[in-house]
Amino acid sequence: MVNLFDIHKYYTVGNGKLHVLRGINLEIQQGELVSIMGSSGSGKSTLLNILGILDDYDAGEYFLNGTLMKKLSASKAAYYRNQFIGFVFQSFNLLSFKSAVENVALPLYYQKVSRKKRNAIALEYLDRVGLKDWAEHLPSEMSGGQKQRVAIARALISQPKIILADEPTGALDTKTTQEVMEIFKDLHQQGMTIIIVTHENDIAAQTQRVIRVKDGLVVHEDQSTLVHA
Ligand code: ADP
Ligand code: MG
Repeated sequence: MVNLFDIHKYYTVGNGKLHVLRGINLEIQQGELVSIMGSSGSGKSTLLNILGILDDYDAGEYFLNGTLMKKLSASKAAYYRNQFIGFVFQSFNLLSFKSAVENVALPLYYQKVSRKKRNAIALEYLDRVGLKDWAEHLPSEMSGGQKQRVAIARALISQPKIILADEPTGALDTKTTQEVMEIFKDLHQQGMTIIIVTHENDIAAQTQRVIRVKDGLVVHEDQSTLVHA
């Protein structure tokens, strides 16, 4: 599903260049549930943004489902993103003045689906994450865990092949962290490919494989024990 060959990425900083990814090689199969760990500044978000076609890279090759993702036009990048990728962020990124159901329905608004239809579909996705009864609530009325479940429903509504989650439980307490992990594990059981960036060993231990990033390189790949899977 995801194949990276010798990926390099630089950021321009002042007059110089920061070599952030220094030759990443990585393969992630369809249906895998993996975690990416590494200290702050090691390049995890940069890597995830490349995987999500939010950002380009300077050298190497990234194949998504067999297609080279390199120097794409904005519209091509958006096309592949919409086809393949659902994002979940640490800070939820919900619109505060929109209800849960409207937030989930938003991707369908951009696809020009009628209001009635998109809200009906959004309600189904809210139901899947156990939040049907919260459809009319604003984000400010919900717990962190509930907000993240809304964000997951929003990621799912465009039927992506891969979920990319950048520290999705970073702002949550232990209990709600586990609620969110149970949803990811359910989705994995249904065949979704899921890539979770995390600092937490408890999260990584619940994935099939831990990818460790250090100073812009994958240091080693672990086959961790499959917990609850
Ligand atoms: P992580 O997610 O592992 O904490 P990042 O991928 O966010 O790491 O960042 C890796 C390095 O690149 C850090 O040194 C960070 O400061 C730098 N960096 C990230 N984004 C940018 C940017 N847009 N411009 C310049 N430097 C950046
Ligand atoms: Mg990061």
